[in-house]
Amino acid sequence: MSHVRIAMIGTGYVGLVSGACFSDFGHEVVCVDKDKRKIDLLEQGVMPIYEPGLAELVASNVRANRLSFTTDLASGVKDADAVFIAVGTPSRRGDGHADLSYVFAAAEEIARALTKPAVIVTKSTVPVGTGDEVERIIAEVAPDSGARVVSNPEFLREGAAIADFKRPDRVVVGTDDEIARQAMRDIYRPLSLNQSAPILFTGRRTSELIKYAANAFLAVKITFINEIADLCEQVGADVQEVSRGMGADNRIGSKFLHAGPGYGGSCFPKDTLALLKTADDNDTPLRIVEATVQVNDARKRAMGRKVIKAMDGDVRGKTVGILGLTFKPNTDDMRDAPAIAIIQALQDAGAAVRAYDPEGVEQAKGMLQNVDFVASPYTAAEGADALVIVTEWDEFRALDLNRIRQILRQPLLVDLRNIYPPAEAERAGLRIVSIGKPARK
Ligand code: NAD
Repeated sequence: MSHVRIAMIGTGYVGLVSGACFSDFGHEVVCVDKDKRKIDLLEQGVMPIYEPGLAELVASNVRANRLSFTTDLASGVKDADAVFIAVGTPSRRGDGHADLSYVFAAAEEIARALTKPAVIVTKSTVPVGTGDEVERIIAEVAPDSGARVVSNPEFLREGAAIADFKRPDRVVVGTDDEIARQAMRDIYRPLSLNQSAPILFTGRRTSELIKYAANAFLAVKITFINEIADLCEQVGADVQEVSRGMGADNRIGSKFLHAGPGYGGSCFPKDTLALLKTADDNDTPLRIVEATVQVNDARKRAMGRKVIKAMDGDVRGKTVGILGLTFKPNTDDMRDAPAIAIIQALQDAGAAVRAYDPEGVEQAKGMLQNVDFVASPYTAAEGADALVIVTEWDEFRALDLNRIRQILRQPLLVDLRNIYPPAEAERAGLRIVSIGKPARK
């Protein structure tokens, strides 16, 4: 079998990208979401999220009749050989455990809709043992379905999601069942044909843990270089050069060694917390991850204080222009973005905030109050007492710094992503405060 009928339950960042890519592999994919607004938009050819290349990929596969959308889970699941669960697993309010209610609700609905022995694949990031629970739910609701439950965590990055999905470093599949393994080989066959990714078969619990261990490790790596950046500032060293010197060692690697305002987004904050809960429940504390979570939480607000300090410690009545709101470039995702804590710290200290982001404003409006959202980086700078780069969108890399200096009320640039060499900003007449750099004379 090479052509697989797939139902994708949950059409968010992961479900929509995965569904579109699977259909591009030649499979027949129905993307299901209970959010009618999303499905209506998709049926009109409008993307509910911003992800580079996604609109074109969706359109071409819809045209080829391989990709469709529905709110009706039962109709999507009915003929499927494989049903992917790609619903959200946010932090549960109060205790930080992964909220699995969406996963379990989807499992129950799927079980009720099964008409043949499909493979049920958990793509959502779920704590160790969730596959066992999904299997139990399916066995209870549909005891004779013959369904098999597989773990297949997703490693794509927002902003580069399609390339990541089509050329992953690895595909992890957790199952001990040979029929399920074969189904997963069929689904991912295009990747093995062009030798781009080996499938790493493991047990289901191991697969579930791989995802959390990988994300926690990356969070540790970012946080490590952020603390080194703070030390650089104290001792007159340059963190970008430290990173270069460290990263050239291929045991370390240069990725995720860029100091900045702290990690955010829809994955690292919640996944590190959920891993700590699993560790606690199993009496096996993960102290490095605990420290990482604490350091990163403190860092976001500390970045607000860094801006205030750069503005001579007093921002009351002053205006701060913010460039970039999303947790990273090339996405509209605002979940846990450092910009939120930074802006709140500035507002708490009495500053007025004006902000520009190429894609994030719509989501930001629901999360931030009293922010003046503007339509260009220059409007954000106009008459402001400081301009702060929070997210390294490409369009901020080539600003006309002379113009920025002329329209700012105070010529101060706070570059929390180190995208401008200090000397370049100073040539334009700006005072610059960077991350992890020696103090400027
Ligand atoms: P999302 O919030 O963008 O999308 C989830 C979607 O599921 C929503 O549209 C929601 O309406 C839908 N949904 C929930 N319950 C449903 C149900 N019963 N039936 C149909 N639809 C339902 O979430 P996301 O960012 O795509 O993340 C999904 C999962 O993938 C999470 O576990 C996340 O940790 C993991 N993940 C995310 C990323 C990422 O970069 N966003 C990367 C790797 C893994």
